Amino acid sequence: MVPSDDSSFLKSLGFPNLKVHHSSNHFDFRIPRRRILVIGPMGSGKTEFSARVWRDSRILLKKSSSVDKVMKTGISDRRKVFFVRTALDAARFPDAPSDALAYRSGYERLGENLASIHNSFELETLIEEHPEAGTWIIDEASFYEERMVYVIKQASEERDLSFIFPTLVLNFRSDIFNATARLLLDNATDVFPLTAYCEHADCVEDSFYTYRWYEVNGRECPAPFFDPLIIIGGDRSSGSPSEPNYCTRCDAHHYLPGKEYTYLTLTPLGEAYVQGHTDGLLRELRFLSTNPGGSRLALSLDSEPEVCRATLLVPFLAERALVFLFAERNLLSESQLRDIYGALQLDTKFLGRRLADNGKNLVSL
Ligand SMILES: [Zn+2]
Repeated sequence: MVPSDDSSFLKSLGFPNLKVHHSSNHFDFRIPRRRILVIGPMGSGKTEFSARVWRDSRILLKKSSSVDKVMKTGISDRRKVFFVRTALDAARFPDAPSDALAYRSGYERLGENLASIHNSFELETLIEEHPEAGTWIIDEASFYEERMVYVIKQASEERDLSFIFPTLVLNFRSDIFNATARLLLDNATDVFPLTAYCEHADCVEDSFYTYRWYEVNGRECPAPFFDPLIIIGGDRSSGSPSEPNYCTRCDAHHYLPGKEYTYLTLTPLGEAYVQGHTDGLLRELRFLSTNPGGSRLALSLDSEPEVCRATLLVPFLAERALVFLFAERNLLSESQLRDIYGALQLDTKFLGRRLADNGKNLVSL
């Protein structure tokens, strides 16, 4: 292996002055107890990375038993790779065989070495049932509860197992995805950052961010910063103006309108409402609901790139703002929420769905 910063090594071999890039190595199965994050936006090849680890393992399993001592701890063999995906994901590639690790350009058949689980307890059971497996790939580990991180840490330290986590760590706001993602970062030993091309039509830069947008009358409308954090059922391309689309964008094309507004205006209006000064929030939400162009959000967008104004076309802006204040900031009580959507005749179906997505199931909705 040639360390990427060691160009003098290549020079000593007689190479001329070249720009030396990171070498793309085969996976090193010799090192135990690794917890490897493979991070990058959608389309950056996280699943292909996993498929490559699998293919590398197939090659090393054909070696003689003389390599066993660097590959095994007891009966667990780090060349025996087990792939775990979330049960939520089963519907993603309906055309692939059920034992297939599918990615955009193909799939690997993993036979018995693949399972779908719901939570960390099911992972513990799997590890008990497959003591021979030494490398565990946990796809989208951020989607599980926080306990998962410590189940993995213990298994890795007590049994010398290595874990690989191909996962999204940033949400559409370019913040750490959730508490589990934060803990995964804290407890990782290695990280492989992957990038994709920015999907903006005019751009060839590398991209690291997930961009959420809505399509309204054929127009790209960036999601406002206060859009609900989790929207279940959102896919890459939806076509419906109230369902989000996702793509990957570089910093310059990752539009996130209304961040300043959210902290400077919306949140303080929510705080004032709780203290009994209800007029300001009601007035702003009424504008967002019926005439977004007159809202303080619209005013705040004057200082942002032109395309950000299109966020005013996103449907259900007032409902989105209310979900932010209630579910994310925990500012309003349930009865205050009811008062507001009653007074403004907001869309209770949309509101109920988005609140449920974000862990608030209200009987009244
Ligand atoms: Zn770009």
